[in-house]
Amino acid sequence: MGLSRLKVGVDVPWVTSWTEEPVIGVRPCPTVNGRPALVQVSRAGFGRPQYSRNHLVRQRETVLRMLCPMCGEPTPPDDRWTQLARLTAAGLLRRTGQAAMLTREIEDRRVVLDAGSIAPLHRRCVDRSLMYCPHLQSAPDVSIMRFPERWAVLPLLIEAGPVLEAGAGISAAAGAMVMVVTFLQLVGVTDKLDRDWRFRKAKSSAHPPIG
Ligand SMILES: [Zn+2]
Repeated sequence: MGLSRLKVGVDVPWVTSWTEEPVIGVRPCPTVNGRPALVQVSRAGFGRPQYSRNHLVRQRETVLRMLCPMCGEPTPPDDRWTQLARLTAAGLLRRTGQAAMLTREIEDRRVVLDAGSIAPLHRRCVDRSLMYCPHLQSAPDVSIMRFPERWAVLPLLIEAGPVLEAGAGISAAAGAMVMVVTFLQLVGVTDKLDRDWRFRKAKSSAHPPIG
């Protein structure tokens, strides 16, 4: 299939995966300091967009470089917004295993904004996506919030068997399981504390399926 008439970053979110971008296995990836990560061919705009799947490498770039997942441009600190993120206490994320790698400097009662795997958007891109994205229009939990000035990035890991070890440069023993990065989770750190966090019910995070 050739180049789509749909424009990347305009008609289709920049971070969305396309059918001509197969997952090619595990490689050391610069987006995670050369750690083994699941990688995908980069050929945005070819084939059909897969709206429910984020591109693994572009997703990691959005979180690392604070790129808007809609248009792919950097978001300035005063123009970062989330739509599906959830305010919760760090302790609740830990209790449900959704932030195992969160450093202990972020105390349990600290209120965090769990953005899942969705980096903040420009306000103009929030408004556009709400207008055009059918998934968002039907989502009951859309809530537009400003993203905090501090955040933590947590790698989401899967255990990959020898089948996935097609990449060069992975120095695992033959047949050994390797912890491999898929997406990056973004957790905003607010100035607020929730002293009653222990009595609250945990909510699930916004992680789309792996591409
Ligand atoms: Zn944008």
